[in-house]
Amino acid sequence: MTTIAFIGVGNMGGPMARNLLKAQDQVRAFDVSPAVLKPVTDAGGRAAATALDAVHEADVVITMLPAGTHVRSVYLDEKSVLTAAKKDALLIDCSTIDIDSARAVHAAAEKAGFDFLDAPVSGGVGGAEAGTLAFMCGGSDKAFERAKPILEKMGKRIVHAGGAGAGQAAKICNNMLLAISMIGTCEAFALGEKLGLEHQKLFDIMSAASGQCWSLTTYCPVPGPVPTAPSNRDYTGGFATQLMLKDLKLAQAAAAGAGATTPLGAEATQLYSLFAAKGFGVTDFSGIIRMLRGEA
Ligand code: NAD
Repeated sequence: MTTIAFIGVGNMGGPMARNLLKAQDQVRAFDVSPAVLKPVTDAGGRAAATALDAVHEADVVITMLPAGTHVRSVYLDEKSVLTAAKKDALLIDCSTIDIDSARAVHAAAEKAGFDFLDAPVSGGVGGAEAGTLAFMCGGSDKAFERAKPILEKMGKRIVHAGGAGAGQAAKICNNMLLAISMIGTCEAFALGEKLGLEHQKLFDIMSAASGQCWSLTTYCPVPGPVPTAPSNRDYTGGFATQLMLKDLKLAQAAAAGAGATTPLGAEATQLYSLFAAKGFGVTDFSGIIRMLRGEA
């Protein structure tokens, strides 16, 4: 039985920790918001009073926190995971954060003698609950091989993207592409509407032609052709615009730092910023079709 310290058990971390409990691991959970600990303790986990208390006896430490600043604080503060964890503990950060923070924590962890992996996820809260997340991992081969059997208890696709920070890099490249392809798909439908095309007819044609993409065939932004897509539920219950915007901003910061030219990524960031500013931050990101039609 593995003892796992889980720090940050909010919307994603909570169900992930519960899946570890289902797989018979021991979980010691800590969160600065005590309210979110209850579902984990109800499922058999133990609540820790502090992060240091949680990691003390743990074989593995997993963090699932909002942003780079929280991750830096939990790993790098004077009294932190790196000072309190057991000598050979494996450290895994599943948060989506900026690459600089991920690399800073990697360097400090390596200096302190720990195996550390950045392992952001895709799949959302539904994937966290179902245990079907995709993990994109950055770190050494050894850290990846140690982490894989643990991550398999919470996900179904575990990919080693490369060295330190590569998991974060892969995640933001993918989500930048997703934002761009969604806006393109929305524009095609909005134009088709003006030109008198039926949604289903346009879907049938584009999904079998060169415009085919995931945003169209799995997540169609108009209701009807793909019944499971959030467009059929008034754009609720999917991937919130504010979370897409967070990833786009991380991608833009990374592009600026790396000297990469990403004009469409920049435009997508502007369009999603505008959509969020109009009050649609919690709306599914495919709802941006409303703004492109001039409805929002
Ligand atoms: P959340 O806000 O629900 O959970 C984060 C938790 O961290 C909160 O409960 C908060 O109290 C806790 N926390 C903050 N600082 C802490 C600290 N110093 N010590 C201990 N706990 C602390 O957010 P979430 O939706 O679970 O997202 C977590 C991460 O996963 C984010 O980086 C997000 O970008 C990423 N992510 C989220 C989704 C999604 O659909 N929600 C999908 C993919 C990736």
